[in-house]
Amino acid sequence: MTAKAQGRVIVVTSGKGGVGKTTSTANIGAGLARMGYKVVLIDTDIGLRNLDILMGLENRIVYNIVDVVEERCKLAQALVKDKRMPNLCLLPAAQTRDKSALTPEQMKDVVGELQKEHDFILIDSPAGIEQGFQNAVAAASEAIVVATPEMSSVRDADRIIGMLEAKEEITNYKLILNRVRPDMMKANDMMDVDDVLEILSVKLLGIIPEDQSIIISTNRGEPVVMREGDKVPKATMAYRNIASRIAGEDVPFLDLDTPIPWVERVKNLFKFGAA
Ligand code: ADP
Ligand code: MG
Repeated sequence: MTAKAQGRVIVVTSGKGGVGKTTSTANIGAGLARMGYKVVLIDTDIGLRNLDILMGLENRIVYNIVDVVEERCKLAQALVKDKRMPNLCLLPAAQTRDKSALTPEQMKDVVGELQKEHDFILIDSPAGIEQGFQNAVAAASEAIVVATPEMSSVRDADRIIGMLEAKEEITNYKLILNRVRPDMMKANDMMDVDDVLEILSVKLLGIIPEDQSIIISTNRGEPVVMREGDKVPKATMAYRNIASRIAGEDVPFLDLDTPIPWVERVKNLFKFGAA
């Protein structure tokens, strides 16, 4: 009998709040599930849970992670199944308990159990570097750092990277640059991707454009990565590509300047024909 491989545990973190951690956790998780992987999302933002809302699952929550560690329910009872994909679920954060209700050791136990049954465990972390952050990182061996191209966000990402470097368990971390506006970068009104990568000296996992479809998706409780059809938003493609890269595929970075992909495809066709 061969032992089943243990799931990969990835923490999504940033230092600064409001830069897109929860959005990225939901979309990467749904993106990996869309590829057929078994995925669980863990919300560690105790008191400020909103991963459930982004997933449209807030009304289905009965138990949460603190109920699990305090043995008021079994782990399986606390997992909320996604409405759209059976291989995606959420372990919700407690909403009202104080932040010390969970310890890094308890977190490791819960994640250890989940690893037996899932390919990916994605952990959404709170802002800052306090208890919640320590819990979120405790059980992870990989990290995704989310930043926006603003000095305050990059500075906080730098601090977080320093903390991740100091953690032996974290073997690999990469950056998502979120809310990118190519027009502003071109006009030198925004730090560009290379500037940020150089300051942070970090590998790039993906770039997400500023995209109002993300806000619409948040309000609908359906991550933008779940949109299907020919004319999906750029953010949908960007998150799908990130999910593929995490799964080990070599996917080129999106050209965010191209407004409509089919125009580009037609242009390429002509280029090919002329060659
Ligand atoms: P965090 O978890 O880091 O605090 P969130 O993921 O909750 O950040 O995002 C904060 C807000 O920014 C949300 O309202 C979200 O819809 C919005 N947002 C995040 N990424 C983008 C984007 N690429 N384009 C537009 N809005 C975004
Ligand atoms: Mg959040």
